[in-house]
Amino acid sequence: MAGRRTITIIGGGVIGLTAAYTLVREGHEITLIERGEDIGQEASFANGGQLSYRYVSPLADAGVTRDALGWLLRPHSPIALRLRADPGQWRWLLAFLLACNRRTNRENAAILLDLALSGQTELQVWRNAGLEDFLWRRPGKLVLYRTASIFRKAARSITDPARQRALSPTECVAVEPAFAGLQPRLAGGLFSPEDEVGDCFLFCKALRKALAAQPGFRLVRGTAGLTPGMGGRCTVSVDGQPFETDLVILAAGLASRALGRPLGLDLPLYGLKGYSLTTRPQPGILPSVSVTDYDNRVVYAGLGDRLRVAAMVDIGTEETTPDPRRLADLRALVAATLPGALGQGEDAPWAGLRPATPTGVPIIARTRYDNLLLNVGHGALGFTLSVGSALRLKEIVAGADDRAIG
Ligand SMILES: Cc1cc2nc3c(=O)[nH]c(=O)nc-3n(C[C@H](O)[C@H](O)[C@H](O)COP(=O)(O)OP(=O)(O)OC[C@H]3O[C@@H](n4cnc5c(N)ncnc54)[C@H](O)[C@@H]3O)c2cc1C
Repeated sequence: MAGRRTITIIGGGVIGLTAAYTLVREGHEITLIERGEDIGQEASFANGGQLSYRYVSPLADAGVTRDALGWLLRPHSPIALRLRADPGQWRWLLAFLLACNRRTNRENAAILLDLALSGQTELQVWRNAGLEDFLWRRPGKLVLYRTASIFRKAARSITDPARQRALSPTECVAVEPAFAGLQPRLAGGLFSPEDEVGDCFLFCKALRKALAAQPGFRLVRGTAGLTPGMGGRCTVSVDGQPFETDLVILAAGLASRALGRPLGLDLPLYGLKGYSLTTRPQPGILPSVSVTDYDNRVVYAGLGDRLRVAAMVDIGTEETTPDPRRLADLRALVAATLPGALGQGEDAPWAGLRPATPTGVPIIARTRYDNLLLNVGHGALGFTLSVGSALRLKEIVAGADDRAIG
């Protein structure tokens, strides 16, 4: 450790909390600033619950532009695009299109896999140290494909056959019998037995509890702001009052974009809206394994006695009110895939904004301000990448590794 420092983290979502937990355990004095009534109420609240360490390939890939046209023309499509008179949206989309090639996808997927797997190992250490009560399980993850050509391409992409294998439709149903009704429509599946699930909000709560037990930690409720200061540093304020700190880490999810603006930082973040439902399925329907229905881009995770279903990528609306038509689309996709999933009540519709970079790679880096670091842009994988990102941040804080990500 390069000396004990007072560090302020802006944002009490899964990214800010994992960073706080990592850094306080290094001996630093941590203040976490959260503007909400509680931690974990924004993108980290009711996400898909997938710790899908081996499925981290970015959305931007070769062929995505062609496939996207098909998605956008399909009624009730899980992907929707509304173009706006918003230069930020156009810049983001252009950068996304530029990242849609095989080489960039492979390079970025390797960065994400590295972050993900380092985080999986560390989470085990945290769990052994007593971090619990977030419905964590390691049931493995099964990605189901209905289209033969897409399944074959996915099967060819397996790089670690010891940890990921291609399955026939019969084998898929043997791994997860809840999806037996889908068997005639399946081309095959990819199974990663070591992938995990958990409830992201409960994980945030578990971290808050563990942090509260650390003498070097405090949680401050208030709205943080950043402005340029003297000597190449930035200045932090909380509810308009100056706030002294050695180092500040911006981890405010999508709001980081607006927080960076007064500093002249143009963070390439865009909110990709998604939805989830939390149901009590009919008996025998709750999947044990975490499942992705690839063709519909719907994920299913059993969290305790509940089923969390998450889906939809809506580009062009950055507000979080659930749209009743999109919820109806999601319920229709689920009912056609896993009848009985919506059966026994509770539905708890939720919408959130994935704080996405065009490349899918988060930004974990120093800035031109000596006292400001970034940990933002975790998109669709923030839960999965949170612990690995915190480890990388720790290296940067310690000066042990200054290689930026993103
Ligand atoms: C539908 C959906 C499904 C998903 N499924 C998965 C999944 O299965 N697996 C996975 O790995 N990821 C998933 N994700 C992605 C994941 O949820 C996000 O990447 C992650 O939650 C982002 O965390 P964050 O901490 O960066 O942002 P947030 O959770 O949004 O936290 C940011 C925090 O900063 C606070 N804040 C903002 N501005 C200020 C300010 N000025 N001062 C103080 N505080 C401030 C906010 O109040 C908020 O609490 C999903 C996302 C969605 C929307």
